[in-house]
Amino acid sequence: MDDQAHAARTMWNLLHEWWTMLPRERRSPAAADRAIRQARKDIDWLGVLPAQAAQAVLKAYLQAWNSCWAGRAGEPKFKARFRTVMSVDIPQGRDLHIIRVHRRWGLVNIPKIGRVRFHWTKDLPVGKRAGKENRITGARLVNDALGWHIAFRVQTLERGQEHHARPEVGIDVGINVPLALSDGTTYGHDKWLTEREMTELLRLEQRAAHRRRFQKHREKTSKRLRATYDRIQALRARAKRRHLDWQHQTTTDIAKKYGTVVVEALQITSMVRSARGTVDQPGKNVVQKTGLNRAINGEAWGRTVEMLDYKTARNGGTLAKVPASGTSQRCSACGFTTSGSRESQAVFVCKNPNCGWSGNADHNASRNVLHLYRMGLALIPAAGRAVARRARRVKPTTAR
Ligand SMILES: [Zn+2]
Repeated sequence: MDDQAHAARTMWNLLHEWWTMLPRERRSPAAADRAIRQARKDIDWLGVLPAQAAQAVLKAYLQAWNSCWAGRAGEPKFKARFRTVMSVDIPQGRDLHIIRVHRRWGLVNIPKIGRVRFHWTKDLPVGKRAGKENRITGARLVNDALGWHIAFRVQTLERGQEHHARPEVGIDVGINVPLALSDGTTYGHDKWLTEREMTELLRLEQRAAHRRRFQKHREKTSKRLRATYDRIQALRARAKRRHLDWQHQTTTDIAKKYGTVVVEALQITSMVRSARGTVDQPGKNVVQKTGLNRAINGEAWGRTVEMLDYKTARNGGTLAKVPASGTSQRCSACGFTTSGSRESQAVFVCKNPNCGWSGNADHNASRNVLHLYRMGLALIPAAGRAVARRARRVKPTTAR
């Protein structure tokens, strides 16, 4: 599998070099296809990559340019050896011949490798359950520090979208709780690694740092140090999987329960940059802000929003984004903004003498998020500009 993945990566790099060196008028998918076929003939070890997988590389490469031209992504780049997630695509499902051999194990045919056993974790349409409308159309093999995984592409008929009214909800990325909803629901989680795993990780990191100190300039990384790195990576990969699992569970739950989900349109990277400020204008509360940023990055908010986006759509709901400004400083009961930093991160206390509302700070912010949506301040997705959906005034004191 490693050989195939390296060949796929090299194929991408060769293709990218060929494409960018070629005069513009000679670039075309057909010419790229011919170049790929030629490369597989000329370079022996590229042959380990099955022809179908090579085609999948071309398809992904052309898609990358399409995304770039549509403004969704930057230009395609070379894939570096150590910074790329190793993966191989199997674009067709018919050669996979999946069999379930045990409640928890299945067998799959991998091109040029043969029968491979895999851990059966999800319902798959195979055997009698497969049909024209319900079938496996391909697979992708991905490597991380814990080994190779297979993800199947499945085509199914979705149930018709239900249009019964489900409630609207605002969500805030909490400081104290990972997700706080405007109706008072919160979604929390344990630490991604147990106490014992954290101790182990710390010990391994210290050991790696110690060994690195005795490494001479340009000396090759020792086998022992590399083994330590592998164990560190495996622990991190385990934490990441637990995180992903939690994200999938919570976003599925939210998308099923609510019809309209409103979130803040956070620009995480610009927030990280702006907190530090410049030399002339250093940012305020840098320590608190970087702490928050780290927490936001840690919670991988962007991925949560992405999941909510497609999951709400799948359940017949919508995801709306509102401009993120002052949602944590404004009182959700009277609309009064308390400027400056609050005494407590966990509790919001309204400084308006006529109001004095106090409550969970994350809950307050999520109520504000929903309120902004009801005021008609949802952002239009593509343009990302605040456009008044409809100038409907909602009295701040009405139930939100
Ligand atoms: Zn108030």
